[in-house]
Amino acid sequence: INTGTYPGRKVRMTEITAPKSPVTAEQFADEIREQLKYTQNVTTEQATPADVYVAASKAVRNHLADSWFKTQADTVNGNTKAVGYLSAEFLMGKQLRNALLNAGLTEQFDKAVEALGFKVQDVVDAEYEPGLGNGGLGRLAACFIDSLASLGVPAFGYGIQYKYGIFKQEFDKDGKQVETPDYWLANEEPWGHIDYNRDQKVSFGGKVVENADGTKTWQPAWSVRAVPVDYLVPGYKSGRVNTLRLWSAKSYDEFDLLAFNRSEYMEAVTPQVKAENISKILYPEDSTKVGKELRLEQQYFFVSASLHDAIRVFYPGQDKPDLTTFPNKIVFQLNDTHPVIGIPELMRILIDEYGYDWDTAWSITTKTFNYTCHTLLPEALEVWPASLIGELLPRHLEIIEKINAQFEDELKSKGVDKNTIKDMAIYTGDAVRMAYLATYGGSHVNGVAELHSQLLKDVTLKNFSDVYPDKFTNVTNGVTPRRFVKLANPRLSDLITEGLGTDKWLSDLEMLKGLEPLAKDDEFVKKFAAVKKANKVDFAAYAKREYGFELDPNTMFNTMVKRLHEYKRQSLKILSVISTYADIKSGKVKAEDVTPRTVFFGAKAAPGYYLAKMTIQLINNVSRVVNNDPDVKGKLAVYFPWNYNVRLAQHLIPATDLDEQISQAGKEASGTGNMKFALNGAMTVGTLDGANVEIRERVGAENFFLFGMTVDEVEKKYAEGYNPASYYEADPRLKHAIDMVADGTFSNGDRNAYSPLVADWLTKDWFMTLADFSAYMDIQSEIEALYADELEWNRKALLNVANSGYFSSDRSMEDYLERIWHTAPLAD
Ligand code: PLP
Repeated sequence: INTGTYPGRKVRMTEITAPKSPVTAEQFADEIREQLKYTQNVTTEQATPADVYVAASKAVRNHLADSWFKTQADTVNGNTKAVGYLSAEFLMGKQLRNALLNAGLTEQFDKAVEALGFKVQDVVDAEYEPGLGNGGLGRLAACFIDSLASLGVPAFGYGIQYKYGIFKQEFDKDGKQVETPDYWLANEEPWGHIDYNRDQKVSFGGKVVENADGTKTWQPAWSVRAVPVDYLVPGYKSGRVNTLRLWSAKSYDEFDLLAFNRSEYMEAVTPQVKAENISKILYPEDSTKVGKELRLEQQYFFVSASLHDAIRVFYPGQDKPDLTTFPNKIVFQLNDTHPVIGIPELMRILIDEYGYDWDTAWSITTKTFNYTCHTLLPEALEVWPASLIGELLPRHLEIIEKINAQFEDELKSKGVDKNTIKDMAIYTGDAVRMAYLATYGGSHVNGVAELHSQLLKDVTLKNFSDVYPDKFTNVTNGVTPRRFVKLANPRLSDLITEGLGTDKWLSDLEMLKGLEPLAKDDEFVKKFAAVKKANKVDFAAYAKREYGFELDPNTMFNTMVKRLHEYKRQSLKILSVISTYADIKSGKVKAEDVTPRTVFFGAKAAPGYYLAKMTIQLINNVSRVVNNDPDVKGKLAVYFPWNYNVRLAQHLIPATDLDEQISQAGKEASGTGNMKFALNGAMTVGTLDGANVEIRERVGAENFFLFGMTVDEVEKKYAEGYNPASYYEADPRLKHAIDMVADGTFSNGDRNAYSPLVADWLTKDWFMTLADFSAYMDIQSEIEALYADELEWNRKALLNVANSGYFSSDRSMEDYLERIWHTAPLAD
């Protein structure tokens, strides 16, 4: 077993095991025909594009099967430990194109589909994106498992196969967000394989009894059946295929026949409904007690099933495995606090199910887990009421109490004072702090960008960092260049390959640095500009087809896409749009001085988040007013394509000229959207927050539009007492924009429509939108001056691409391997 340090870039599996082209286009067409005939049971003549999509997907899956089996066998028998990535979200995006790319079958597929008499686009469009994540955290998990497979590192993604995932966003006639269920499994889904024979039992409730020998037995009240649904995770040219195992909840007592025969039809299916609710949706509303209960059930459900699954995989058929070797077989990463209940669960498994003593169990457990913190907002660190854990997982609450007692003793012995010990409590008597449990119970804690990791140590987890400085490290996030450059932006990919003379950059993204000299070559820069222009024309066609928008690709495409949250400050962007609108309309800015812009927003708001939903409504109504005003036609337009997801990201990011990363400094942990834009040749306007800091360092301060307060300035302002109204009074542009929101300009004269939002801006403005407004407006003239010089703009945008290779998720994985997991790729 290799548990040493990761040897770094010297071992690149991509060079060793790149697969040969597996079949010809004719052979692949035959494979699709065969799937149509024997699996879909339709003739080629009867088949629809959706049939061909399913058939082709199954044919690709078949191509990956042998590599998958070999990777599984090598994972169990091989010389290196595996990674288990525990995550409540995996925002995978569509699968077919990615699987074709990684299986080396893209061309064969395109030709085969045409030979069968179908349009490639129609077949690809038949795939429905699984929305099994909320935003950055879930997409990160998907990028990471792609990179692990591409590096040849054995890994399991473990999560939940939600039946509905994140809600589908629509807008009503007033521009309000309406959430509808996203039934992504309505049609045949060819990627997930449900494996009833590898199920696990997960129990809840009941009580703990003490046995005569002092051991404890948990007597649960009810159980559900966790059934795995396996997704293949093919590496790019690595010949390796890992597994994403998503658990689906089923009932052991599907159906109560006696109740049914008493005509109690609803009661007859109650147990089934109760069990299946566990994997029904992502992040059920948790403002009620039962909502909270369901969330905790979800977390325990997937974590318990996954830990038992790992024991099954690595100790096959063994009744009494030597689990002291468990941390040498697999290391688990806790993606945020959602899976942290895994720590007491592994303790329980080791002590109650396998008879280990406490100290041995603790030693195994702490070596097994590591924790990634994804936030700086204290309210986002999960805290569970102890009473809830006690009801649902009584044995776990006992274990948590004991962990806390041991922790307090340890802190005392290290000389930590009483008050600090109290502040650090994992278990307060009323509540369990999951981030603290994760920090104490695992080997490493990491933040997700340099600045974030520093702030974790200095602020959020300061006490822990003081006592356990060696636990803390940083791994800056990354994104997979296969999906977000090669698939999303084929024109740019071809140009990069032309510029570098090789396509090896796709598995070694730092090679993009080789483009730097080409930024001096005007002809190359013009080709780069032509790529962006063609992408904008493509996006205009896509937006027309999907949303009915009429876009002008000759305008600057200026994009802000990410979850809707006050700290991300969509408010700042929309207030600036309103101000620009007012200036053009009033003639304050001369028509010939206006840089024509199309502003895009994409964002979902959490269903219970009132101000975020109101901001969505405002944006939609600004869009309505601006886009229908002949005075600004051709100069300013605002669009809000609904239901932002991976698919839309893949279309919009390559078409964007200017990207907005304008969160309040010290609030965005990292961001990954910022990396995707830079890699696709957008310029960024941004604050010194999250990974923006590192992007700017790498691409050069002169190639990044920086504005706004720093973390220190923000802290100082909070300390001094922040008064947003003073900013409203001081900048007439800001005053005018806010007054327009208040006076009914964007609400058909209704002055009350946005009053809660306006009141919040003027009296609270917790994330200091108003304080940064002037700086944000001032930098616009710099942006517009550069944009007017097409060659210079594109030169700088190209330098962004050339210097963003660091932000590959392959690099993130190498950092995790070296700093946290201490493992390496499988030998060939
Ligand atoms: N949603 C989707 C579909 C994404 O692709 C991403 C990241 O790239 C995000 C959300 C997160 O965006 P951000 O990093 O800007 O918060």
